[in-house]
Amino acid sequence: MELSISESRGIISNLISNYYSKAEDIYPERISEREFGVGDFESKIRTRHISFENKKTFKEYLIKKSPPFISCSTAFYKHPSFRPMENKEWLGSELVFDLDATDMKLPCQSSHGNSWVCETCLSSVKEETIKLIEEFLIPDFGFSKDEIELNFSGNRGYHVHIKKESTFSLDQIARKEISDYITGNDVNPEAFFNLEELKKDTGRTTKKLMGPKITDGGWSGKIARNFIKELEKGEENLISLGIEKSVARNLYKKKALVELGINNGNWDMVYIKNKGDFWKDILKTQSIYQSDKIDQNVTNDPSHMVRLANTIHGETGLISKKISISDLTTFDPMSDTLAFNTGEMDIIVNTNQKLIMNKQTFGPYDNEKVEVPSYVAIYLFLKNKALFVNKKVI
Ligand SMILES: [Zn+2]
Repeated sequence: MELSISESRGIISNLISNYYSKAEDIYPERISEREFGVGDFESKIRTRHISFENKKTFKEYLIKKSPPFISCSTAFYKHPSFRPMENKEWLGSELVFDLDATDMKLPCQSSHGNSWVCETCLSSVKEETIKLIEEFLIPDFGFSKDEIELNFSGNRGYHVHIKKESTFSLDQIARKEISDYITGNDVNPEAFFNLEELKKDTGRTTKKLMGPKITDGGWSGKIARNFIKELEKGEENLISLGIEKSVARNLYKKKALVELGINNGNWDMVYIKNKGDFWKDILKTQSIYQSDKIDQNVTNDPSHMVRLANTIHGETGLISKKISISDLTTFDPMSDTLAFNTGEMDIIVNTNQKLIMNKQTFGPYDNEKVEVPSYVAIYLFLKNKALFVNKKVI
């Protein structure tokens, strides 16, 4: 017989409590200066303005209450539980970047909806996270790998925390400048070319169109490197960027030459009519594609709360696992984050999506009764796709 929702939630709560009794690396630094937010199965943050004196009281709370979600302020406060916010007395905030597959407007989302997460969602958001770290945080902002802390969100994204003291005091305006830079909000590709000089050209001597080199720092180098990447993808890709077919063919045919030119800042290796306007239009499309995937609200707001690393995500039963940057490429969020990895459970399940967990494929299922590993049963229950059938657990 199917269990009721509250009986099923009870089973999961016991497992969560058990997880926290054994969990170790769950404490934020400066724990007594943080505000915590606690969620239930229906709301990610149900109660906030909670604080803990030390690690011991925090752990005892988690074991006793087994919250499906626990979030913590990126800020440090003198009085984290005081209300309203002004009375907390802000002491500083970590700089945080939140990347979520739902913000990426992927084509797969229109077929599986916003609450489901597929392999494409997970690989795309991972790619964006690598891009943020390797193309912005390290080269442009000069953060070292040791200053960047990274964790999976527990569902379909990643959180990146900067653990550098000199960034803690940045105010909202400074944080907005950082996120604007990363999302390319104010980037004007024209500024990197000698377009003004070209305009003055009388026609007698034709000047070369000079622009960014791949070795340039900041957005200039990014624009050059990104165009070469697009060029490498082939003629069809160039057409999809809005380039006319014959020009796309010519660019791709002479790509070795074009690349050699861009290496040295010469964007004039192939004849293109109205070259200034041509590149201006193409690069405008490019800057949008580069990186507009971080949630700016999270970065800009110094009093935001984010899921605490290595805690349970109550919509998946997965761990919001801390990952080292060097492990990110091989990290598998549907295998390396299983919190409830023992035993099997019977469920009745209905989903037209397939689920890949622990390198095994499950489903699609048409209202079927099946026996599956407990982490699959819990994932499908929390995603509202399944009901537990008996208590054959753990
Ligand atoms: Zn997807």
